[in-house]
This record gives sequence, C-alpha cells and structure tokens, in this order.
Amino acid sequence: MPRGSFPAPASRFQAVGFSEIVKVRNRVLDLLAAGETVWRFEGGEPFMPTPQPIKDAMSRALQRNQTRYAPSSGIPELRTAIVAKVARRNGIPADRESPIVVNGGMHGLFAAFATLVNPGDDVLLFSPYWTPIVDVISYCGGTPVGVPTAAARRDGLFRTLDRAVTPRTRVLYWNSPTNPTGEVFSRAEVEEVSRFVFERGLALISDEAYEDLIYEGEGHVSPASLPGMEERTISVFTFSKTYSMTGWRAGYVIVPERYRTAMQTVVLYTINGVSTPTQWAALEALSLPDDFLREAREGYRRRRDQLAGGLRAAGFELDVPRAALYLFPKIPSYLGADSRSAAETLLESARVATVPGLVFGPEGEGHLRFSFSVGEEIIRGGIEALAAFSRRELQPR
Ligand code: PMP
Repeated sequence: MPRGSFPAPASRFQAVGFSEIVKVRNRVLDLLAAGETVWRFEGGEPFMPTPQPIKDAMSRALQRNQTRYAPSSGIPELRTAIVAKVARRNGIPADRESPIVVNGGMHGLFAAFATLVNPGDDVLLFSPYWTPIVDVISYCGGTPVGVPTAAARRDGLFRTLDRAVTPRTRVLYWNSPTNPTGEVFSRAEVEEVSRFVFERGLALISDEAYEDLIYEGEGHVSPASLPGMEERTISVFTFSKTYSMTGWRAGYVIVPERYRTAMQTVVLYTINGVSTPTQWAALEALSLPDDFLREAREGYRRRRDQLAGGLRAAGFELDVPRAALYLFPKIPSYLGADSRSAAETLLESARVATVPGLVFGPEGEGHLRFSFSVGEEIIRGGIEALAAFSRRELQPR
C-alpha cells in the first residue's frame, strides 16, 4: 500500500446493504425535528412498556452487585429456566448445554448464520422475508435464494423448495410467525418443510421472534419439536417482542450439539456474554404468569382490527393476519404500484410513515408495511390522515 493511503473496508461488506427501514426512520426524525406531526407506523416494537417485575429484577441484580462477568453462554439459572421453557412451551428437547444466551434475536441469527454458512453457500428463505437476513447471509459470503411464499403454498412447499435447491444449499432460514406478513405456517406446513430439510441434508435456522404474538387459530409450532429435527435446527428466540424488551437486547438460541462449540465461539468473540443484570431480568421474564400475555394479546388484537378497518376505508385491500405486529396491505391504485414511491407520497403528503414492501424482497412489491403496535391515538390520527388523503386523491378533477 502506498504511504498515506487507506485500506478499504473488508471486501465481505461489498454485497451487504444497510437497512432501508433506518432510512425511513431518519426522514421521519427530520420531519419531527422540523416540528411536523407524523403518524408513525414504520416501527416494529411492542406498544407496552416492559412489565414492572422485569424492571424490578434488574434493580435487584444491581443492588446485589450481580454486575460481573457471567459465563459467556449465560448464567446457569437462566439457561436452566430456558431448558424448562422450551420443553414446556415449544416441545423442544434440550439439555443443560443447549441454550446460549445472546444479545437479542438479531445477534442470535447472526451467530447462527456465522456458524453454518460458508462463502459460496446458498441459503433458502421464503419471501417476503425480514430484510436483515439477506444482508447477514451476504456478510457470511452466502447467497440468499428467495422462494416466493404464496406460490410455494399454492404449488406445494416441498416441490417449490426442491426446485430452488442446489448442490451448494446447506441452510434454510425459517420465520413463523412471519415479519412482514403476519402469516403463521400450519403444523402440516412445518412438517413438510422439515421433511425437505431432512431429506436434502440441510440445517434449519428457525426464527421464532413472534412465537407468542398469535391472536387466533392454530398456535405456534417449533420445527425442533418434530422428531429428529432438534439435531439439525438452531432455534432463535428473543425477549424483545413477548416481553416488550426491545431495548434490553436479550434472547437465546437452542443449539444442536454438533454446532455448539462453533456457536459458543461466535458468541464469545462477539459479546463475551450478555450483560449480567439483564440476564437476571430475563430470568424474571420467563417466570411471569401467562395472564400477562393474554392481556397483551388483547391489546394487539384491538389495534390490529382498528387499523385494518381504517386502511380498508381508505381503499387498501388486505388479509387480516393472525400474528405478529404488522399489516401488509396492497397499495391502492391511486397511490401507484411502486412501493418506494407510495411510501414516500404517504409520508410527504399525509405524514403517514410506512415501510415500502419491496424492502422485504421482490414478493413484497406492491405492498406497504404498517405496524399496528402503536398507541391507539396514533391509529386514530393515522386513519384520519389516510381518509383525508384518499378523499383528495379520489376527487374528480
Ligand atoms: N426476527 C424477526 C423476524 C424480527 O422481526 C425481529 C425484530 N424486528 C428479530 C428477529 C430480532 O429482534 P431482536 O434483535 O430485537 O431480538
């Protein structure tokens, strides 16, 4: 290198994008700083604060000076509680060494892909998908191979996946309930995908961030609960959504024995363990009674239905999803079909912030993502702003 020159960032970043959702958020923050009102539906956080017992547990840990290094895979008390939770709630067979406490779902996913993906590998995922996944795959040197969910469900999941599989495929990323569509795959579908993963000798990364936010119908099925799948599935869980703990950065993964050492190594060298007082708080979260979740779900369901009604009145077509935090309606024709420009028009002309569907893969184009996990006053204000905007647009000129 010539004297005084600079090395470029590592080449592994060449194929890696940076979240477009962050770009939307930055524009919203500019508008707010300029004194504008913005009806914000672009986020993805629980509407409630963290439950008080969890905060109290954090305070207690601080008072007791539980503030030193913990074992890098997690404090034994929390790992034991996780083993019991996944056995009881998810039906996943786990032993004392299966769980690793991580810094939120994002970190668990990063560690899982870093554990499994070699440069040149193909990774299958259903589309639309949660955007950061394709960037993490690319960071690892892998190639994300999107499989359109709607077509696969129509034509058969096994058959459609089998058309997309290559000799380089090693991993399938699975996310149910799904961000951004709020869809929940049925037990029969989980079984079909698992059979595919088994027969093609793949590993599965199962992102179960929204396992507890299902509002009606058949419940959540963890792939690792199916016979034999626990040997080839890394299950990724987070405290963020279930317990309104997005800012705490806490989650856990359940890792099959053959991948444990690699995954523990990634966790050691990325974070060397989650903050110790946070882990004590997470332990408290796992012992909250189930009525807490029943009430939370009631609040989500009400918001979902209010926003869905308002969107329909403003000309958006949508299926009301059974789970997660989002509506993913079709863009009405008066806004055009290009999701980036529709989101921009809504933000600039109606002060309604959404995420363009294209961000979630080509299958998301023609849609916008609205989070219904916001204050009810935001839902009311946003619906009014959309109604006024649609009246203006539809007026004969
Ligand atoms: N998976 C999915 C599908 C998500 O939508 C999110 C959060 N938006 C996460 C994982 C990770 O969340 P966290 O890092 O806060 O645990």
